[in-house]
Amino acid sequence: MKKMLHIIGTGTATVTKYVNTSCVLDDGENLFLTDGTGGAEILKCFETMNLDWHKLHHAFLSHEHTDHFLGMVWVVRNITEFLELNDYEGDFYLYGHAEVLDKMRAVCRMLLKPKSCSYLETRIHFIPVFDHEERKILNYKVTFFDIESKKAKQFGYHLEWPDGMRLVFAGDEPLSPNGEQFCQEADWLLQEAFCLYDEEPLYHAYQYSHQTVREAGEKAERNHVKNLLVWHTEDGTFGHRKELYEKEAKQYYQGRIWVPEDGDVIDLTQTETR
Ligand SMILES: [Zn+2]
Repeated sequence: MKKMLHIIGTGTATVTKYVNTSCVLDDGENLFLTDGTGGAEILKCFETMNLDWHKLHHAFLSHEHTDHFLGMVWVVRNITEFLELNDYEGDFYLYGHAEVLDKMRAVCRMLLKPKSCSYLETRIHFIPVFDHEERKILNYKVTFFDIESKKAKQFGYHLEWPDGMRLVFAGDEPLSPNGEQFCQEADWLLQEAFCLYDEEPLYHAYQYSHQTVREAGEKAERNHVKNLLVWHTEDGTFGHRKELYEKEAKQYYQGRIWVPEDGDVIDLTQTETR
């Protein structure tokens, strides 16, 4: 079973040089999408990254903010087009907490054409998940958790492969204790890093309930995470982000650091042992 992670985007909401943060987990046969980016660029990304819509039957939406939510409307729209053409086998399942799914359902009903809406709840299913609820999705054991955001209700997840490998998607805010409890000895931790520590006064990470590379590194270190991936960043360091972020993370974290670019594909089996 393959364990590939396709990085659709790595930017925060307001960047212009990156696509908003989103990724696809790929087991070789099926895809699992996390968040939709801010819009129709997700269609272009699937095309350029060679991701097959027909292999996408499961997706997760972390919260309602535009940079994660609006692209998922395009995902739903796109799949309804395939359904209309009789070109999509099986159904599509979107997981998320009840509130974000209510909003997605409402937006789709308001904006999509009647034929597309006819597939909502019949072929396109909105699956509400609860804090600490465990679900089998494809071959993964996925446990969802509330990240306890003060801005908008947001969930992350802990995902386990049959062989015991573990990944945590922390959402786009700092880990709270409710999420951090899943991170102990995790093989992969996908965490936001809004900007460099020294540039916090420039980007106001803390004011917007975000964290810097330093805090991301500290949290990964104290949980003995093996691989730390940081994303959901500013774009002022564009062209130098990888070296600058790696350098800072290294000061606080001993494991392997990943600062991916949009479009990168990571083989998750290259897990560091520590
Ligand atoms: Zn965001």
